[in-house]
Order: sequence, then C-alpha cells, then structure tokens
Amino acid sequence: MRSVSVFGATGSIGENTLDLIARQPGDFDVVALTGGRNIARLAELAQLHNADLAVTAFEECFEDLTAALAGSEIEVAAGAQAIKEAASRPADWVMSAIVGAAGLIPGLEAVKQGKTLALANKESLVTAGPLLLGAAQQHDATVLPVDSEHSAVFQALVGEDISAVERIVITASGGAFRDWPAEKLKHATLEDACTHPNWDMGQRITIDSASLFNKAMELIETKEFFGVRPEQIEAVVHPESLIHALVGFKDGALMAHLGPPDMRHAIGYALHWPERGGVPVERLDLAKIAQLNFREADPEKYPALRLAREVMQAGGLSGAIFTAAKEAALDAFISRQIGFTQMAEVVDATLSTLSGEIDASSGISLDSVLSADHLARKTAMQIIESW
Ligand code: NAD
Ligand code: MG
Repeated sequence: MRSVSVFGATGSIGENTLDLIARQPGDFDVVALTGGRNIARLAELAQLHNADLAVTAFEECFEDLTAALAGSEIEVAAGAQAIKEAASRPADWVMSAIVGAAGLIPGLEAVKQGKTLALANKESLVTAGPLLLGAAQQHDATVLPVDSEHSAVFQALVGEDISAVERIVITASGGAFRDWPAEKLKHATLEDACTHPNWDMGQRITIDSASLFNKAMELIETKEFFGVRPEQIEAVVHPESLIHALVGFKDGALMAHLGPPDMRHAIGYALHWPERGGVPVERLDLAKIAQLNFREADPEKYPALRLAREVMQAGGLSGAIFTAAKEAALDAFISRQIGFTQMAEVVDATLSTLSGEIDASSGISLDSVLSADHLARKTAMQIIESW
C-alpha cells in the first residue's frame, strides 16, 4: 500500500486525483488532504478517503472544519504553516495541486522527504524552478510533471537522451478567445473568459488559458523542467487539444503524445509511474477525429508569450515577479477592476519597474523569492490603482 497526500484536494486536479485513488481501494493510504474555503467538500473527501489529517489554508475556517469532522478521528489544522507541516508528514507520493505561488512552500517541504512529488502546480516551477528542482536533487526526490504538456514531453523522452532533443513543441487550445480578433479582446468580460472550449479546470487556470498566460507559464515550466534553451521551446495553437506536446530530435523525428483532454491521463501516469496503470479515460477514435489542426500562436494577440520569452532570457527572480504580478492582475480582473488585456499590461509594467531586482548573477533563495513575490504584488497593485 502506498501512502499519498493531496495538496489542493478540493480543486479540479485534486478531485481528479482522488477519483483515480478511489477506483483502487486498498492500494493507497491517504495521509493528508488540504483545501481552501470549501470546508464541506474537504471534510467529505477526508471522510471518504479516511485521511489522517485535513487542513484548510485559512485560519478563519478552522472551527468550521473542526465542526464538520467532529466525531471522526481525522486530525484538523488550519493556516499556511499547517499546510507546510502537513507536507512534512511522511508520504510516498504527494500531489501538489494548490493553485498559485502558494504551492511553492509545501512543494519544497514535500521533496525533503526524498519520495515522489507529482507537480501540477506549475507556478512553483515558474517562480522558483532551480530552488525546487535543486532541493529535490539534494534529497533524492523524484518530481513528476502533471501538467498535460509536460507529462507528454516526459513520456516522449522515455529512453531518449536529452542531448538528442532539438526542440520541444507544446500545444495550446487557444482558450476561450482563439477565434476572436485581437481588437475585440479589450471588451472581453469575466464570463467570456471563464469558458474553456476543451478542458474543465479551475477558474484561474481557465482565465489564464484565455489570455495564454497559462501557456506562457508552461513555456517557462518547460525550460525549468527539461533544462532546454528558450529558443528550443515553441508553442503552437492546436484547437482540438488531442496532441499535448511534441518532442523533435536531431534526426528530424517528431514524437507526439496524444490523448483525450482529460487530466486523469497525466495524473494517472504520475500515480502509477514508473509503471503504466489502467486509467478510465475516453479512448480516441482516430477515424472519427479525422483531422488535427495547427496554427501559429500569435504573439501580437497574446503578449503573455512575449513576456514569457523575456522571463526565460532574464532568469533570476524574473519568474517570481512574473507569477506574482500575474496573480495580482488576475485578482484585479476577477474583481472587475481591470479589463482583460490590461492583465498583460500590469505584468509588463511590473517586470519593467522591477528590472533592477531580477539579479540573475547569483542563485535564488526562498527568502529572495518570497521578497520578490511580495514586492511584485505590491508594485502590480500600485500600477493598477494608478490607472
Ligand atoms: P482549483 O482552483 O480548481 O483548485 C485549487 C486548490 O488549491 C483548491 O483545493 C483550493 O482550495 C486550494 N487553494 C487555493 N488557494 C490556496 C492557498 N492560498 N493556499 C492553499 N491552498 C489553496 O485549481 P486547479 O485547476 O485544480 O489547478 C491546480 C494547479 O494545477 C494549478 O497550479 C494549475 O495551474 C495546475 N493545473 C491544472 C490543470 C487543470 O486541468 N485544472 C491542468 C494543468 C495544471
Ligand atoms: Mg497544461
């Protein structure tokens, strides 16, 4: 029996992970589950999976969670420190599926155990890739990608030498606005941005898919995870979302990974790795699909892609600044303080204002990352308020 913990259990990735775990009764022992404000669901999941510990990220939710789990033997805790402590509880396999830069600290704590971290939280790689992967190496931990594109690349690389890789192509569905002309994006509403043509995901990543900030983060994630040069990484719009990524080798071969747009594919691969286990996803009927389409990811329409290239070139703390500014801009868009296209303007202006803070000459530390994160959120908010 393998012990597992799921961080962000009540989210889209967390629910899908627990769905797979529930299908194999007796194979997994659930240690810790964490969530946010959806206390009823967190308590329900903790009971369903007989977890040792349930943690809400918010201290003010402690009493509600305690009440919801009264009479059970499940331990209850609340707050960011409690999430960190939960990540230090021994577990063979830990799913990192908190949304945002808040996933970094529990991820760092989890790799210290030297076991396996299944990483859906792309923000921790964008914010502090060298820190997280360096800690994993130091503690002999395995980090497995769960983002569908990176899982696809990882799978295409099995048995291959990374030095034989010429390029990596990740695909983008194009999100909610792929068929909108660039001029119309200024008027896109929150409701418009919250619908995704192919994937069913959390609200924040769905909006990031519409702006291509999700793809921008994934370009940086590719660089960090696979250690390739920025110019070797491409993004292409593929409206069907059936090919998740392609790896091009120096002999010209392109290895593509196909699967239905169902995150249980990538989660299941990480859950069963290094073996392959059965995963209850739809099987593709190629004759019915008939065709696969590709088009250029237009950098004019999607400035997030250009910003990602700048971050990859700059290195240092630019990823932490980029992520924090993007999160502040996304909060402002969700609260209808700024328009859709202004999100990229906020990130661009924050990166320019803080260009002196990036300092790629020395390595990054958790302290430097956290202070860059703090400064970038403050700067982004000042920029928004000055408009
Ligand atoms: P979601 O919004 O559905 O769920 C997020 C989870 O994090 C919830 O459990 C929430 O309670 C918790 N959370 C929110 N704020 C928190 C905080 N400050 N501290 C601790 N916990 C907090 O998000 P999601 O769509 O499941 O995405 C999770 C992560 O996986 C993100 O990093 C996302 O980019 C990545 N990802 C998601 C998908 C997808 O299909 N949903 C695909 C690829 C990658
Ligand atoms: Mg993805």
